[in-house]
Formats: sequence, C-alpha cells, structure tokens
Amino acid sequence: MLSYRHGFHAGNHADVLKHMVTIQLLRYLGQKETPYMVIDTHAGAGVYALDGNYASKNAEYETGIAPLWDRTDLPEALADYVQLVKDLNPSGKMRYYPGSPYCANQVMREQDRLRLFELHPTESKVLADNFRKLDAHAAEQGKRPSGRGRRVLVERGDGFLALKALLPPPSRRALVLIDPPYEDKRDYQRVKESLQDALVRFPTGTYAVWYPVLQRIESKQFSDRLKRLGAKSWLNVTLSICSPSPDGFGLHTSGMFLLNPPWTLEATLKEVMPYLVKVLGRDSGAGFLLESGEA
Ligand code: SAM
Repeated sequence: MLSYRHGFHAGNHADVLKHMVTIQLLRYLGQKETPYMVIDTHAGAGVYALDGNYASKNAEYETGIAPLWDRTDLPEALADYVQLVKDLNPSGKMRYYPGSPYCANQVMREQDRLRLFELHPTESKVLADNFRKLDAHAAEQGKRPSGRGRRVLVERGDGFLALKALLPPPSRRALVLIDPPYEDKRDYQRVKESLQDALVRFPTGTYAVWYPVLQRIESKQFSDRLKRLGAKSWLNVTLSICSPSPDGFGLHTSGMFLLNPPWTLEATLKEVMPYLVKVLGRDSGAGFLLESGEA
C-alpha cells in the first residue's frame, strides 16, 4: 500500500521528536574520526514545502516545529535541531521543513555515507531531485556538494530488503533509521524481523525506529517486543501532546525506540522531554515516557 505521503505530516510533533533524536545520534557518531554510515530505510521526499498543498492541508507543523521557531529558551539539543531547520530557511520565514535525509546530510561529514531508500515512485523522484537542487544551491554558494553517487546514494526500493545487503557496513559504525508509515499493520512485524536479522549481521549498530502510539493493539505491544530483541541496550522515548480524541483519530503520541543508543542520550532526553511537553502540550493528556534497559 503506497498511499502515505509524509508531506501531510511534515514538521508535526512526531517529526520534532524523530529528527531531534536523529541529529543527536549523528552528533555522537561524529565524535570519532572513523567514518560511519547512515541507512534511512524509509526516506520520504527529503524536504517539504510547508506552504505546499500537502503540508498546509492540516497544518500539522503547528503541533511541532511552529511553536519552537521563536523560542529563545530551547535546551541545547532542541536548539541544534531548530537551527538546522532555520538553516534551510535563510529568509527567516518558516517555509521548508527538512526530512530525515536532509537532517542526516547536514550533520554528516565528508567521510560518512548516506544510503536512502524510498519505495514510492513519486517520493523517490522528488527525493533525488531535492538532492540535485541542494547541490546546485551549494555550488552557487561555493559550498561542498552532497557527493551524490558516492557519499549519498538515493534508491527507489524496499528499505527492509535493502538493509540486509548493507550490514555490516565496512567501517563497522552505522545508524539505521527505520521510519515506515504503519498504514499497513504488517510494518510492525517487518520492523521486528528486520531488526532481528540486522542484530545478527551487525550487533553493535545503532538502530532507531519511529512508531506511532495508537489505540491499535499492534502499536501497544510493539515496544515490548523490541525490548526483547536481545540488543545490548535499548531506550524508549514517547511524546504525547494531548489525550486521545474520543473518535480515536489523529496522532497524539509517537515514540522512538533505540537499540544500542549512545550512553549520553538518556540525560539529553531528560532535559528535552519536559520542555517539549511544556511547549507542545495541548491538554492534561500531554506527557512523556523515558525508559531504558540492558540485555
Ligand atoms: N523518514 C522520513 C523523514 O523523517 O523525513 C519520513 C518517511 S515516511 C514516515 C515513510 C515513507 O516510507 C513514505 O515516503 C513511504 O512512501 C515509504 N515507504 C513505504 N514502504 C516502504 C518500504 N518498504 N521501503 C521503502 N520506503 C517505503
């Protein structure tokens, strides 16, 4: 099923959590000189126009990036993320929102590698076009191009399948981001099986899985299943911006489940999550969960 278009949701509270965490994971990997690889199995379009048809339909960015835009009291990790979004909007007006491929490309270094997979024919074409535009823009400004074809590879394909061929990466350092739409409930099972397989091929990799917390039984049981995968350590963080609506529609809570996270991340999130609840929370149902464990 390929009806999902991330543009409708760009910059919402779930994107804030996902992209803020992703940037922190990459900052940590960047502390060592040895190259790392980022594998984004469900890459989306890379950049989204917030005034475009999709994003402006429900204006979901009002639940996420918009309330953070002018804040002057952001905790460091959030300030880092908001600055990255601002760098994509040099006019100062919030017009574009970066997807995970853009976030990764901005934080990665020359020696690192980005492998992007997107199954939707239109989204994958837009993703490739967006990297072409970024390179044209970088060339105009005399800045480093993304290194398409070598440093960055964009492929139309099934990210779950692609992952098998890429692990372990040559440098034995990698972040794998898995961010499926979950409109098809088999995505839950595919995430679990992919991680099981990946942990055999590459047990020391860092794996980050985004997931929605819905009323649906699959999402409730999901994090419990991931805890039992046998990774050396795990961390689970969720953000709720409001109580579930009576009709059960709308995304009120989302989570990031991490296998082998950096040891510094939990302390960072202890600072960031209460702030996010304060600024993005809409009613008494707003809150966060932060838990971790070791095998
Ligand atoms: N990771 C992106 C970001 O943070 O900017 C958003 C990705 S969006 C939630 C999920 C994407 O996965 C959609 O663009 C969808 O077309 C794509 N997709 C669905 N199934 C896929 C699969 N098996 N392999 C690769 N991409 C897939």
